[in-house]
Amino acid sequence: MNFIPSYLKQLDNQQLFKRAEEAYDNLISCTSCPRDCNVDRINGDYGICTSGHLPIVSSYTPHFGEEPVLSGTKGAGNIFFGNCNLKCIYCQNFEISQNPILEKRKEVTHERLAEIMIELQNKGCHNIGLVSPTHFSATILKSIYLAAQKGLNLPIIYNTNGYDSVDMLKLYDGVVDIYLPDFKYGNSEYAKKYSLVDNYFEKTKEAIKEMYRQVGDELIYDGDVVVRGLIIRHLILPNDLSDTENVFKFIAEELSPKIHISLMSQYYPTNKSYKDILIDRTIRNSEYEKAIQLLEKYGLHNGWIQEMDSAENYLPNFNEDRTNPFKN
Ligand code: SF4
Repeated sequence: MNFIPSYLKQLDNQQLFKRAEEAYDNLISCTSCPRDCNVDRINGDYGICTSGHLPIVSSYTPHFGEEPVLSGTKGAGNIFFGNCNLKCIYCQNFEISQNPILEKRKEVTHERLAEIMIELQNKGCHNIGLVSPTHFSATILKSIYLAAQKGLNLPIIYNTNGYDSVDMLKLYDGVVDIYLPDFKYGNSEYAKKYSLVDNYFEKTKEAIKEMYRQVGDELIYDGDVVVRGLIIRHLILPNDLSDTENVFKFIAEELSPKIHISLMSQYYPTNKSYKDILIDRTIRNSEYEKAIQLLEKYGLHNGWIQEMDSAENYLPNFNEDRTNPFKN
């Protein structure tokens, strides 16, 4: 099979260009995510994500730590964006997600971001993985348009924390082929406490419904690698702070039990998690087993379950080496 990424079909009719323009206009009064800060990011104002109108690329590299169907043999072409619209007290990427003054130095032009996409393609990566793209969703489309004109022909992965604007996601309809959202909490109170955000459960349900509408519940493969579809990640938090049952119930009953779930056990207390006793430890075997039972209970049989010993393996260090933070 020779897969043609969806965005290439939008090049000829100028749809990609028009979408990029429309998205960029959003930055004048930013509603790129459900925070709805309404600040003018083009003229120097900042909202909760503390980011301007140009993308911040904290790191980019072929990455082998994604689900095997995304990393393949040559790696996912990951681009890690700096800053974030969430403020998780346990964020494993806090060195780049919660360090706005330092990360500002990593701002790049749209042309440079397009070049980075081409570089990753030239390295043989299977896809372009946009990691934490939400707060730059209005600006990344421009770079996809420029890269497509320069010969980019890899599928785009939208790897998000799930707190996305439905209107912005609609602009990515027919551009993104693989949605890879986290579904962090089935309970907005926990999200408020641990990610400092309102209405996470409600807003993420809406966002993932839109992703599902666009790409459905089937995964399409080219060889051993996925080129289109939806994979929902769920990180088990200690003391069931992720409210796993509510997440799985929603997926099974309001989306489809055929959806692929990536159940993650890698939680490791870092950043400011030492401040809250409930989240200041790795997960227990009993918590891991319970989450697996819930997959069974809701008939969610497609996907991957991370081994219990994964906590150490997945801890990145962006301070030591920006070109290989995961020690691939
Ligand atoms: S992207 Fe940033 S500025 Fe825009 S609404 Fe979200 S947090 Fe606010």
